[in-house]
Amino acid sequence: MLGITFISLCVTLALGRRVVDLTHTFDQNAPKYPLEQWVDKGLDWNMFRMTTLMAKLTLKVTEYYEHQGTHMDAPMHSARGGEDMASISPERLVGPGIVIDVTDKAESDVNYAVTVEDLKKYEADHGRIPPGAIIMMNSGWARKYPDSNKVFGSQNLSDPLSFRFPGFSLEACNVVGVDTPSVDPGIAPEYYCHNHLQPSGVPLLEYVANLDAIPVRGSTIVLGAIKMREGTGGPTRIFALLDDENDGFINGANSVSSRGAIGLLSLSTLWISNVTTLEIK
Ligand SMILES: [Zn+2]
Repeated sequence: MLGITFISLCVTLALGRRVVDLTHTFDQNAPKYPLEQWVDKGLDWNMFRMTTLMAKLTLKVTEYYEHQGTHMDAPMHSARGGEDMASISPERLVGPGIVIDVTDKAESDVNYAVTVEDLKKYEADHGRIPPGAIIMMNSGWARKYPDSNKVFGSQNLSDPLSFRFPGFSLEACNVVGVDTPSVDPGIAPEYYCHNHLQPSGVPLLEYVANLDAIPVRGSTIVLGAIKMREGTGGPTRIFALLDDENDGFINGANSVSSRGAIGLLSLSTLWISNVTTLEIK
């Protein structure tokens, strides 16, 4: 019996993968897009206890903005008639993870916008970006979280024209994720990436955390987005799954090997390849 338990434990470990959480912890300080009417409005965050039948339960009434903290923008956020959070197909929520690291560039230029050249350089250095990839910009901005003045690069949060943070250029924005408040750089209030991508049904990720902790390629990203009817966006738990090949990139104490993972990875890549085709022009 002990032998069987030991064997099943080994099988579990062998099938396991390392999981990196790319999500900031959500609380009352999670930055929200500071449009004028929102700035001073507090959130309802009441904990209460109740007794029912024989059980004592703790519950909470929570009020939050759909676009607060690490979250997804549903296509309907900037595309009329676009999908809501509940209608995004699950195939969109799993894909190969690609990290475009522009930390150095963003340090010297807060308005830095990822270019097509950055994507071409990535492909020259690391290989082709697969169709359906979940491409995330790492600008080092996650370190400023949750200080709203720092993440928006502004001392006047009620003035969107004063925002300064990195994003993607229009030509390069075949993407879904950034570690900043918006896929569009702060200096571009016309939201050209939102308007360019979302009519094609592309969900976007904002305030992605921990991008330093995953390799620039080789992870599988899983997006645990809230399935909210008519949700224009919502809190999203973002996981990066790492398999054997990536153990050299990260020194993790809980590193486990995986044999079943490769099949899973190829399968999810296959599903995704039917959904979007990336074209770097
Ligand atoms: Zn948003």
